[in-house]
Amino acid sequence: MEGIKNKNPMAMTNRARGLLLTLLTVAAGRLELSARGAALTRYEYAEPHMGTKFRIVLYAPNKAAADQAARAAFDRIEALNHIMSDYLSTSELERLSRASGGGPVKVSGDLFRVLAASQEIARRSSGAFDITAGPIVLLWRRARRQRELPDPESLAKALEKVGYLNLVLDPNARTARLLKPGMQLDLGAIGKGYADDEALKLLARFGIRRALVAGGGDIAVADPPPGKKGWLVAVEPLEPPTNAPARFVLLRRVAISTSGDSEQHAEIGGVRYSHVVDPRTGFALTGRRSVTVIARRGTLSDGLATAASVLGHEKGLKLIKGTRGAGIFYAEESSSGISAHEYRFPPFVSVQPSSPIGLSTTSRKRFSVRTQ
Ligand code: ADP
Ligand code: MG
Repeated sequence: MEGIKNKNPMAMTNRARGLLLTLLTVAAGRLELSARGAALTRYEYAEPHMGTKFRIVLYAPNKAAADQAARAAFDRIEALNHIMSDYLSTSELERLSRASGGGPVKVSGDLFRVLAASQEIARRSSGAFDITAGPIVLLWRRARRQRELPDPESLAKALEKVGYLNLVLDPNARTARLLKPGMQLDLGAIGKGYADDEALKLLARFGIRRALVAGGGDIAVADPPPGKKGWLVAVEPLEPPTNAPARFVLLRRVAISTSGDSEQHAEIGGVRYSHVVDPRTGFALTGRRSVTVIARRGTLSDGLATAASVLGHEKGLKLIKGTRGAGIFYAEESSSGISAHEYRFPPFVSVQPSSPIGLSTTSRKRFSVRTQ
């Protein structure tokens, strides 16, 4: 079903409907567990981390257990921020970037895992996803702030320091080496997904399996709420018609991420420039798109959503096809209107306005949680 052009992004394919059936059937087998979990209560938390709002929704036997687990999960997220941030000069990532042009640097297990996952996505997307894009990301960050395009000379200079092949990992020694001086790593397109995964793992260590962790629009879910088939996560349309109900997908034990320009973009000279760049050209993406990827882990859904954004719908869908358990919904605007392309994406489910638990994967500002 890839490549279907669809003026109405809400339309569903038979294959997608089939997927829902599978999802429901699998869920039915778990009713016993749900019944046993019925005494659990829902707790919800939110804290700012990694420049966005992180939310945790979990089911626990009592408030003390819930508070303790959530605290530990948020602490873990904050610890990861101190490893992965490119905004903190003291972070492990920044220290590594400053060592560029030198020898191999021993890194923490966390950093190594994120770097390795990033390199895998970089390789599979032929460099459309590239965490060495830091120098050009910085130029475009400034360009958006000043509403002025980066000058071509600076772009060309920055581009010389970009290229995932210049990041060399050694899994045995657990080292990373940046071959060129002046390289700058940026985990902005994958770090929140990794943090979601790690927070869920931590909650599981506290015995909490019915949980959802959302880092902005990157959401990872474990087992569903008691008695439910999944978590309802809203996928916002590229161009929401006024008062249109959000479209939801029902998810369990997966992660979902949207890469789009709904929040961070700037218009310069009448053109809309995204905060996502094409590391192969040095240019920020233009045009409007919203790319939602579902994958087994947040690290993957986050990274792949950005990769697919850069690749465009044809190659983007191909990338997802080659990823076990992943699905994609790719909406974009062109001169002929909004079109949607999807592959192995679960169907949207209709939800009554009064219905419980909706989280949006698309935007930070309009991020919404509905409680029961
Ligand atoms: P969001 O941060 O809105 O969730 P993404 O996951 O797509 O969106 O990440 C975008 C961020 O990733 C940018 O702000 C930048 O820091 C970094 N980035 C931009 N382009 C790329 C790219 N092609 N590959 C890897 N990282 C990128
Ligand atoms: Mg991403």
